[in-house]
Amino acid sequence: MSDTIKYVLPENRIPETWYNIVADLPSPPPPVLHPGTGQPIGPNDLAPLFPMALIGQEVSTDPAIEIPGPVREIYRQWRPTALHRARRLERALDTPARIYYKYEGVSPAGSHKPNTAVAQAFYNKEAGITRISTETGAGQWGSALAFAGALFGLEIEVYMVRVSFEQKPYRRSMMESFGARCVPSPSEETAAGRAILAERPDSPGSLGIAISEAVEVAATRDDTNYALGSVLNHVLLHQTVVGQEAMVQFEMADDYPDILIGCTGGGSNFAGLAFPFLGEKLRGGREVRLIAVEPTACPTLTRGKYAYDFGDTAHLTPLVKMHTLGSTFVPPGFHAGGLRYHGMAPLISHAHDLGLLEARAYNQTECFEAGVALARAEGILPAPEANHAVKAAIDEALRCKEEGTARTILFNLCGHGHFDMQAYTDYFAGKLVDQTYDEAELAMALAGLPSVAAG
Ligand SMILES: *Cc1c(COP(=O)(O)O)cnc(C)c1O
Repeated sequence: MSDTIKYVLPENRIPETWYNIVADLPSPPPPVLHPGTGQPIGPNDLAPLFPMALIGQEVSTDPAIEIPGPVREIYRQWRPTALHRARRLERALDTPARIYYKYEGVSPAGSHKPNTAVAQAFYNKEAGITRISTETGAGQWGSALAFAGALFGLEIEVYMVRVSFEQKPYRRSMMESFGARCVPSPSEETAAGRAILAERPDSPGSLGIAISEAVEVAATRDDTNYALGSVLNHVLLHQTVVGQEAMVQFEMADDYPDILIGCTGGGSNFAGLAFPFLGEKLRGGREVRLIAVEPTACPTLTRGKYAYDFGDTAHLTPLVKMHTLGSTFVPPGFHAGGLRYHGMAPLISHAHDLGLLEARAYNQTECFEAGVALARAEGILPAPEANHAVKAAIDEALRCKEEGTARTILFNLCGHGHFDMQAYTDYFAGKLVDQTYDEAELAMALAGLPSVAAG
């Protein structure tokens, strides 16, 4: 058998609809609540931030939502992405397992993020919006929205978590190349940022803080909407092109995954790969195990509480029920900046609560070790976030070897690490240490969870 095996679809196999898991879940996810009244919010509560089309998708129970023509047209630039069989990695591990990965690093921003950035920019443009404010962790989301904004002629303003702004300066240059403005967060530009800086001038920032800044700007300006790169239902929805393509590609391969793996920051790349398969299973199709992988230093699913919480630090967002470490929790500045969010997508949290998926956590050095093994076998250098999925895939393949079983493993190789070379430099210099969060800070952040009667 050849060592280079990939399954490639023609452009006309880009999915025509996004898949909505809500239609197949045994129970609906808990409602989003207004923080003042404790009552479920309505579409108008979200109108200052999002266009109505996206609000409609956020609450939709339809199984399939049509992908607009102009969005599919832009997807054609890099979609369908290839499904690769990791033959060389299998051989290096000497495992009977069949390992596959869907490679999303071929997009213009280098990750899965443009799948939703293009859709969000399209709907905002349609609604007459001229400016979008957003946050970014490692810079992948900011780059993706900057790219989409350039195509649709939208002004993009990005609040970038300060620790990543300093670790990954080239991401800022990329955003600026696409015409966006990038501000380190916390900043002096918003009340939310100023409040954090007053308390802690050296704050490394967090996604929760950056979201507060971006939401504040959108809420106070009529020409500006807000966009989020993960967590929300409509974002997970847009990512389902990944899993839907993979299902067709597995037909070509005459195989089917036993185990599906993705790293989870807010949950969108994992959901994008896994939900179409989970839906198939819920409709009476084949059994499949879902594994969500997160960093030990920000262990939302494995150590967080499933409770109503704010999506941001300054408490400007509605309350959503999700696995959370508390909205004031600031994780240490480890390198997988895209996995430093205090919460988890409500849909992933709900699926976890229903027993439909497993979660595990790894330290960063063991993840870099796995990423380097993948690079040496397959020639692709993963993003530090994606290394978490690679680590879990390798562990599962090694378990197959121990047990002498030939399972099929699929993971989402959600981005490349070409802008993260400082992290690899530090890793090779032995300077990358496993970081742990402060237990006292976590306890305090959890103790500060809002009390919600309906919870
Ligand atoms: C943003 C990002 C993540 C984390 O976000 P999810 O919504 O959990 O996918 C993971 N990997 C990469 C490469 C990212 O850019």
